[in-house]
Amino acid sequence: MIYTWQKEQWRQISQQREQNRLPHAMLFTGPAGTGKKDFALALAQSMLCKTPGDNGIACGHCDSCHLFNAGTHPDLKHLQPTPPENSRSANPVLSIKIDTLRELYRALNETSQFGGYRVALIEDADKMPVNAANSLLKTLEEPGQDTLLVLVSSHPHRLPVTIRSRCQSVRFAVPAESVAMAWLQQEKVANAETALKLAHGAPLLARAYSEEQQEHRTTLLQALSAGIKGEPSFLYAEKLAQMPKEPLLRWLQDWASDIGRLLALGEAANLVNEDQRKLLETRAKSVDNRKLYQFIDEITRLQRAEGIALNQQLLWENLLISWDNV
Ligand SMILES: [Zn+2]
Repeated sequence: MIYTWQKEQWRQISQQREQNRLPHAMLFTGPAGTGKKDFALALAQSMLCKTPGDNGIACGHCDSCHLFNAGTHPDLKHLQPTPPENSRSANPVLSIKIDTLRELYRALNETSQFGGYRVALIEDADKMPVNAANSLLKTLEEPGQDTLLVLVSSHPHRLPVTIRSRCQSVRFAVPAESVAMAWLQQEKVANAETALKLAHGAPLLARAYSEEQQEHRTTLLQALSAGIKGEPSFLYAEKLAQMPKEPLLRWLQDWASDIGRLLALGEAANLVNEDQRKLLETRAKSVDNRKLYQFIDEITRLQRAEGIALNQQLLWENLLISWDNV
């Protein structure tokens, strides 16, 4: 699936294909929720399709496309991070396992099952321990004939330079707001404006702002405004610990950053949580500027520690106690 805001990237890659200048490896970067993975899948299908159209898009009905759509094409290797075996955590640390990369190396050095290209797609490629990255490096150095590796990453700086330097980088930015809004309306997304703001303009992330996510955000907002009512916010830690950490930390950071914007710019501040402006303005009145920025730093550190297993309840208790002190 190529989204309306990805036409330029498609054009460039198609041109390289026509001129037989396609690299062995590409790295798709850009914020989460811009559709990098869907683009990578569309490219993979198009590389394997027997009769792609003039625009290079896969036909959707040849043998190859049928296998691709069924997820059983032998010349497509699709790797993604998985939780540790036997993990029962609600927030497991995901990673791409070295065994799958060793297997990939073998598969790409065998001949194609269909006599054409072999394509490997590695989602969230930065979630790779060092030994796995070394194994991937071996594949990048000896990629085999007619192979294309596509690495997808929203955090490419976390990948070793040795890997990045062997891939052609393709950047996917967030589209213009009008383009994103038009798409969200077409997708019938409720509260599209708030969803797009919370997603920092990334359309697919905005579409993922489901009823469940809205409930999670409501719980977070209750915790963050508990202090205004004279309640201790850490009482919400247990509830928050049961929810996926990534969006909560993102919203928390936006919340604190919005207060920073209000302190700096007052009414003129452009807020991510525009729908909660009144509440933010109330809280901003009692905020210590220095402590606010320490709090934002604390959240950033936790976001970077994505690959480390943390006690969720303790994490939220600590964060909320810090918040009450801001
Ligand atoms: Zn086809």
